[in-house]
Amino acid sequence: MMPEPLNNLERLCIHSITTKPWTIEEATINYSSKGVHGITVWRDALTGRNIRQTGEMLRRHGLKTVSLCRGGFFPSAEPAKRKQAVDDNRRAIEEAFELGTNLIVLVCGADPAQPLDDSRKQIQDGILSVLPDAEAAGVRLAIEPLHPMYADTRSAINTLAQANDLAELINSPWAGVAVDVYHLWWDPNLEKEIIRSGNNGTLLAFHVCDWKSPTMDMLNDRGLMGEGCIPIRKIRSWVEAAGFKGFIEVEIFSDRYWKQDQSVFLQDIITRYKQYV
Ligand code: ZN
Repeated sequence: MMPEPLNNLERLCIHSITTKPWTIEEATINYSSKGVHGITVWRDALTGRNIRQTGEMLRRHGLKTVSLCRGGFFPSAEPAKRKQAVDDNRRAIEEAFELGTNLIVLVCGADPAQPLDDSRKQIQDGILSVLPDAEAAGVRLAIEPLHPMYADTRSAINTLAQANDLAELINSPWAGVAVDVYHLWWDPNLEKEIIRSGNNGTLLAFHVCDWKSPTMDMLNDRGLMGEGCIPIRKIRSWVEAAGFKGFIEVEIFSDRYWKQDQSVFLQDIITRYKQYV
């Protein structure tokens, strides 16, 4: 068999949470010294910082802030909590604007105290409430469907078809979808739904990692690319056939990798990105 061609790093973006033990300042220096061009910033990495200056620091090091992670968590059986969620999403939009990114990823949320349909309706209402703020700030909102194992508390949106339905219903240039291979690789309709989001012009982000078998923890045992069973290159080919030309974002939550020397881990990410993405 012919070896697969190696990627260069032009489109590689890394989520700050992937190297969680590093501060945003350490991540910036290390990513840029390795030739990484993109970063997605998790909001916890901004705690105690001047966000505008942090954005400037990233740009000075040649890093584009691909998105801010994350907004969402709209549903709750309690109206006061739904209002808090809308306020928090407004803050996320301000933070994205100050940081200098035009995209927020939404982990939409769910409340096990109520039916999924109620949560879905509240997600729609929540997005519609903050959409004018997003437009005013020039920030788009990407609905990220999550694997159904998270349907109890993290997201009532579990397939790309549901995310596409919601984006079509909202019908705004400021709302689209994010495709994360970890959440969606198992879906027999994935190729069709990726093409649908491409045709709608709503395919805003592409996240990669791998599904380890067995997976030991539902949240923090994601694999490096090539370590599991996700056909990443095939899914990437669908995403590109749908017209997506943006960054390819490595997003790994892993207690195992967070315990390692993060410089060694970063080199592994780069090697495996070249080989398997
Ligand atoms: Zn993701």
